[in-house]
Amino acid sequence: MLLTLKKTESAAQLDSLRDLARELGYELRFLDAGNRVAELTRADDRPTAPSDRSRFEDLALVASVLDASDAPELTDRAAQVERTVVRVREAVFGAGHVSLIAGPCAVEELDDLLEVARAVQRSGATLLRGGAYKPRTSPHSFQGLGTEGLRMLAEVREATGLGLVTEVLDPRDVERVAETADMLQIGARSMANAALLQEAGASGKPVLLKRGLAATVREFLLAAEYVLASGNRDVVLCERGVRGFDTVTRNLLDVGAIAHLSAATHLPVIADPSHAAGRSDLVPALAKAGLMAGADGLIVEVHPRPENVHSDGAQALSPAAFDALAGAVARLVELEDKVLVTPRPQVPPVFEVEETAP
Ligand code: PEP
Ligand code: MN
Repeated sequence: MLLTLKKTESAAQLDSLRDLARELGYELRFLDAGNRVAELTRADDRPTAPSDRSRFEDLALVASVLDASDAPELTDRAAQVERTVVRVREAVFGAGHVSLIAGPCAVEELDDLLEVARAVQRSGATLLRGGAYKPRTSPHSFQGLGTEGLRMLAEVREATGLGLVTEVLDPRDVERVAETADMLQIGARSMANAALLQEAGASGKPVLLKRGLAATVREFLLAAEYVLASGNRDVVLCERGVRGFDTVTRNLLDVGAIAHLSAATHLPVIADPSHAAGRSDLVPALAKAGLMAGADGLIVEVHPRPENVHSDGAQALSPAAFDALAGAVARLVELEDKVLVTPRPQVPPVFEVEETAP
């Protein structure tokens, strides 16, 4: 591990670094005359834990960890050679598998939900999205239908076979939401809620983790680290745009972060062009940009009558526009030598033929 140190006159701070290195079994060596760059090497064969890195980072003297390659965190590519593949019912994310999640922003009307579900499934989506609990910026806005929304989602899964991705906002609701959801969504506004991340991790359900509104890539990965550290390896990262200074788009889709994350972590990464654009006309362009940056899938908001919905109508694609996008995705995925995982054809019910005695 390589550390950069702050300029200090305090011998006590240097002593605390030396003491910690000794306690954790590292040899400490300064690489420059001014004692500003320190190299830590293991004095024994014990594997280095990510907690070692945090202990050093917490010292007042340490400015940054320059290279942590010998103390990888659980999300690091260095911690796991093979890529994590996350399977949620028919959907597969990672290691060359691309899957589409689509549906309304929020669960509102059962008929609409069923209509959207059937349409996006025909177009190639394997998972249905829809929030029963909505993390609205204003407490006065529609907050979702709660348990009634979960019931509708379950009904639509029953009718279509689509897996369900739905958001959980409160650690106290994780168990209840996990009874219905096939994948738990942790939204941008909740990314840093450690209790929620741990509870979602402990549920054993795959987790779709969205990047916070103004979270750095490292903060995003450390949020994922909470889920992995609670024993749940099924995490899909979602870049949904970060806050920018311009109002032309709702957020800035950080395609650089998608490309970086695809290389720096073994976890699958997907793009959410809907919350990045905030405008349906720009969604297809951002979706394609996300895929070309290396995304292992997309989550897209779709609604046949966006003028009637309580949340995010302006960014919803029509079913026809989603169908066109899914066609473009299939071509791009092929170009990238990846596989677009599509729903199995719906099997008509089999009727048993009664055998008649000879
Ligand atoms: C959503 O998926 O509808 C949502 C609220 O997303 P985000 O948390 O990214 O804002
Ligand atoms: Mn939304």
